[in-house]
Amino acid sequence: MSDGTYLQYFPNAYSDVLNHGSVTLLAGINNQYKDYKFPDDYFPGSNSASGTVSGEIVYVGFGISATELGYDDYKNIDVKGKILLMETGLPYNGNDSTLLKWEKYSYHRYKFQRAKELGAVGLLYISKIANPNTSYLEGFVYAHTSESVAEELFDGTGRKYSETNAAIKKNIQPNSFAINKKVQISASTKHFPDSRSCNVVGIIEGADSILKSEAIILGAHLDAVGSPGCLFPGALDNASGSVNILAAAKALAASGVKPARTILFIFFGGEECGLYGSTKSVESPLWTKEKVICMINLDMVGNGTGFRISNGKSFPDLLSPFADANEKYLHRDLSSSEARVNFGRPRTDAAVFDKAGYRTLSLGTTGNVKPVYYHHPLDNTDALTPEIMEDSAKLLYLGILELANNPNIGIY
Ligand SMILES: [Zn+2]
Repeated sequence: MSDGTYLQYFPNAYSDVLNHGSVTLLAGINNQYKDYKFPDDYFPGSNSASGTVSGEIVYVGFGISATELGYDDYKNIDVKGKILLMETGLPYNGNDSTLLKWEKYSYHRYKFQRAKELGAVGLLYISKIANPNTSYLEGFVYAHTSESVAEELFDGTGRKYSETNAAIKKNIQPNSFAINKKVQISASTKHFPDSRSCNVVGIIEGADSILKSEAIILGAHLDAVGSPGCLFPGALDNASGSVNILAAAKALAASGVKPARTILFIFFGGEECGLYGSTKSVESPLWTKEKVICMINLDMVGNGTGFRISNGKSFPDLLSPFADANEKYLHRDLSSSEARVNFGRPRTDAAVFDKAGYRTLSLGTTGNVKPVYYHHPLDNTDALTPEIMEDSAKLLYLGILELANNPNIGIY
C-alpha cells in the first residue's frame, strides 16, 4: 500500500454480541409460556440493539413494500409496537430482468429500515443462520429463528407456516396477519459505528520484464461471522479458502520458479458484513484493471472429494491450466460451469469482481463427505477434509504458475 503496509483499510461498522440473549413466548391462545433454546431454536441478531422488547407477533411475509411492483406485505396491517415474524429473501425467485426490479428489496438492511419506520419494535427473522450483513437500528431488537419455531408460532392460527410461505412465493401475493401471540426478545450487544477493517494483501512480483505488468488476483475472505452468543469458528467458511491460498502462496514463493506475471493475494475483510473488502478492492484497485488476467476466488473449499471451477466453461484459457494439472497429478473429479449473469444482489467476493467487469473463476469443492454447518457454531475443524485442502493448494499452485507463465494467455 502507499503507506508501506500490506493492509487496505475500509469502514466496517459492527456489533459485539455479549451473550446469547433470549427469545420467550409470553402468552398465546392457551397462555402457553416457553423459553426458546439457543442455539437449537434461535441465534441472537449480530447487529441487534441491546435491550428487551415484547409485543404481539405479526407475520409480515417478506417485509417488502414494493408498491410499483404491486406487492406490499404491510398493506392494511398495523405493526406499530409489534414484533414481526419475517422471511429473508424475496417472493420472486427467477434469475432474469424482473429480478433486477426486486433486487433492492432483497437486502436485510432495507427490510429492517422498513420495519422500523412502520413502528415495529422487534423482529424474529426466519432461517436460523448467524449473519452480520444487517444493520444496527437504535431500539430495534431482533433474533434469527428456525423454521420449526415459525411453524410452532403458527399453531392455533388455522394456517400452516410452510404452506403460507409457499403460497406467497407461488402467487407473489402477500399474506400478512396478526398471530395473536406475544413474544419477548432480549439482546445484549455493543455497537461500534466508526470501526474499520482491512484486506490483507500479499504480492509475488512477476519476473518477466514485460509480463510482470499483468497480474492474477487470488482472493478469499478472511473474516467469518464472529461470535453471536458463542464462537462460530468459520472453519469451512472461510478459513479453508484462506488456508488453501496461503499454502499455494508458500509453495510459489518457495519453489524457486519465478512466475513471469505478477500474482496478488488478497485476503478480504468484511465479507460477511456485506462484501466490504472486495468492494473496496474494486473501488480502489491495487492493480490496473485492464492488466488483470483474472480474479480467482476461494470460498468454502475444504469439504469433499472433487473440485468445481465456476465460470470455467466460459473462459477455457483460464480453466485449462487447472484441468490439465488435475488430470496429470491430482486425478480428482473436476466439474465446471458457464458464467451466467446474476440479476440479484451479489453474494460473494467473486460476484463483486464480476460486476466490476473482471473475469473470475471460483474454486469450490464437490462431493461433501462431512455435514455442512453454514454460519453455525459447528463449522469447526471437524467439518473439514484436510486431503481436499492439500490438493486444492496443489491445484492452485500448478494452475496459477501456468497462468502466470504462459505468454498465450491474454487479457480479456
Ligand atoms: Zn464465505
